[in-house]
Formats: sequence, structure tokens, C-alpha cells
Amino acid sequence: MAKYNRIVLLGPPGSGKGTQGAILAERMGVREISAGELLRAEVKTGSDLGKEIAARIDNGQLVSADLIVRLMTQAFLAPENANGYISDGFPRSIEQAEMLEKVENTPDFENKKIDLALLIDVPDEYILERILGRTQCAKCGAFYHEKFKPTAIAGVCDVCGGKEFVKRADDTEETVVSRLRVYREATAPLIPYYENKGLLVRVDGTGPIDAVSERIKEIVKY
Ligand SMILES: [Zn+2]
Repeated sequence: MAKYNRIVLLGPPGSGKGTQGAILAERMGVREISAGELLRAEVKTGSDLGKEIAARIDNGQLVSADLIVRLMTQAFLAPENANGYISDGFPRSIEQAEMLEKVENTPDFENKKIDLALLIDVPDEYILERILGRTQCAKCGAFYHEKFKPTAIAGVCDVCGGKEFVKRADDTEETVVSRLRVYREATAPLIPYYENKGLLVRVDGTGPIDAVSERIKEIVKY
């Protein structure tokens, strides 16, 4: 067993949280549990609950914290996750974290509480640079970064020789700043919250993907 097995990943959008979560889950041999995926899966089953969720999403409403907590804690306790899990995107707010804590205080959760809140720490300027520099070959779809992963010959795709590059429509400074603001208001308060419980560990999220996953390995000791 690793030092930590039930891990909540925290970090701003663009911190590499998704990438690192997938690597960590694979190396630990546990599943990554995502609130968004659980919601989509429930809709697919066509259950009454699934219909309720679909109706809310179609109407542009938020799915209630209560429902998300119910789905996530069910997954945390599922037999296939008995050895641990990585929780991505949950809890997303203090409200959700407090509801989770209540459920964790029930007998079912004995010895099964979250044991680490891992914060992938990156400064805002770094996130902007990382997201705003992303580009993609218009012809073959290969991904590049103007600074971190440039083409071998400037302006020419390494894979197909294409000369046209596109950016994702939502990779603008305005969208990134707005996503960061939402994170700071709703999710960042979880940092002191988990710090107070002695569950928070920070990892430096800057630098190449491999370097960051090595730092995470040192902490989790898998
Ligand atoms: Zn190309």
C-alpha cells in the first residue's frame, strides 16, 4: 500500500491536475473518480435519478451539491475502489466538503476517509503562459506549445508539414482569467480547509510533466 490511498486532487484550471491525476491513478492501480463522469453515467442508465439529472442539465441548472455528494460517496465505498481512488473535481466547494465530512463520519466510512488533499501549486502567470501558448496543427491536429513544445522548424508541423496552426476558441486570456476567478472564489477556500485538518500537501506543478509526477511520487510513496 502507498502512504496515501484516498486522494483528493486540488489545483487551478491549467495546473495539469487532469494529466497528473490520470498518471497517478494508473501507477497506483486505482481508479480516478470524476463527478462529471458519474453524472453522465447515471444519465445513461436511464434511472429516475438519471432523468432528474438530465432535466437539470438541459435547463442549464446546477446539479445540487447533495446529489453530487451522494454519487461520489457511493463510488468511494464501492468494492472496486476498496484499495483507494483519486477524486478529481470533488469536492469543488466548502459546501460539498462539509457535506462529505458528515458522510465520512458515519460508520460505513471507518478507515475509509480521504487521507490526502494534494494541491498542484502553480502561479497564475504560469497558467496563462501555458494555456495561451497552446496551438494545434490545422491539418493533422498535432499539439504544440509556442514556448514549451515548439515545432522543430518554425511554422511547420513536425508530423505532417502543415503550415497552418489554430488555437482553441476558449484559450483566450479573458476566459482563462474568468476560470481562475471562479476557482479562487469557489474552490481555493478548500486549501485552508484541508490545511486545518492536516490533510493538505502542496506539490510544485511547474516544469515538465515527468518532473511533476516524480514529485508526486515522493509524496504519495506508491
Ligand atoms: Zn500537422
